[in-house]
Amino acid sequence: MMTNLYQSKVLENKQVNQKFHQLKFKLQGDTFAFQTGQFVVLKVGEDLYRDYSLASTPQALPQWEIVVDVTPGGPGTTYLKQLKPGETVETTSPRGVFTLQEDGAETVILGATGCGISPLKPMIEELLSGSEKKKVCLFWGLRYGSEIFLEDILGKWQKDYPNFDFKIVLSKPEAGWEGESSHVTECVIEMVGKSSKDKTSVYLCGSSEMVYDVRESLAKIDFPHDKIYFERYF
Ligand SMILES: Cc1cc2nc3c(=O)[nH]c(=O)nc-3n(C[C@H](O)[C@H](O)[C@H](O)COP(=O)(O)OP(=O)(O)OC[C@H]3O[C@@H](n4cnc5c(N)ncnc54)[C@H](O)[C@@H]3O)c2cc1C
Repeated sequence: MMTNLYQSKVLENKQVNQKFHQLKFKLQGDTFAFQTGQFVVLKVGEDLYRDYSLASTPQALPQWEIVVDVTPGGPGTTYLKQLKPGETVETTSPRGVFTLQEDGAETVILGATGCGISPLKPMIEELLSGSEKKKVCLFWGLRYGSEIFLEDILGKWQKDYPNFDFKIVLSKPEAGWEGESSHVTECVIEMVGKSSKDKTSVYLCGSSEMVYDVRESLAKIDFPHDKIYFERYF
């Protein structure tokens, strides 16, 4: 049983496509603090909890957001899918060590699969608004084109910030897809190959399979393991 839970009201529960929902909340009463990249433990039933990364920056508090892949269909996603504006949820304060690091990197490569984009989006926002003009590159792996969302904001950042680039990588693209069709691992490795290894850091979030593959491939090219930061969801 978790104690010291924070209460938040649901502001919005938007189904963006068959796979993803974006949920917005507003803290009621006590406010928590957090670092971009952290997650909350959310009560989804009687003594039942699931972890969700904060998809917004601390500047947005007392409002905060999550991105949920609703396809697993277990208690967590079933609970979140049906939440209505005005209802109250309970969470712990944010936790976790997957946060931006001051490691001297001049190039930051971010790799996500599916809802792993969630903590990376506010990390990118923070990197782009910072005074250091680091090169920031995102590779986001999805299966189908129908799962794509957030391309408006990612496209806007690409236009506004010459130091930001992103690629959506589809593993099962429909006919006519003209973008990247491979896996996040290959894209990250190729990008690392074009960068100076001692001035680059890599942030990974999503499936254990992707995190494992990228870490193994980076080890083979002697990329420093302490410059790889990751969060595994399942
Ligand atoms: C630190 C952390 C942060 C997380 N942040 C997010 C987040 O921001 N958004 C989000 O949607 N999920 C996130 N997750 C996953 C989330 O906690 C739940 O596991 C997920 O929502 C499924 O919960 P469930 O109760 O519906 O299914 P469960 O009954 O718990 O799981 C059903 C099955 O689905 C698998 N599974 C879980 N997630 C996925 C997935 N995305 N794709 C395919 N299979 C999956 C589980 O391993 C299990 O085998 C995070 C996990 C961790 C550890």
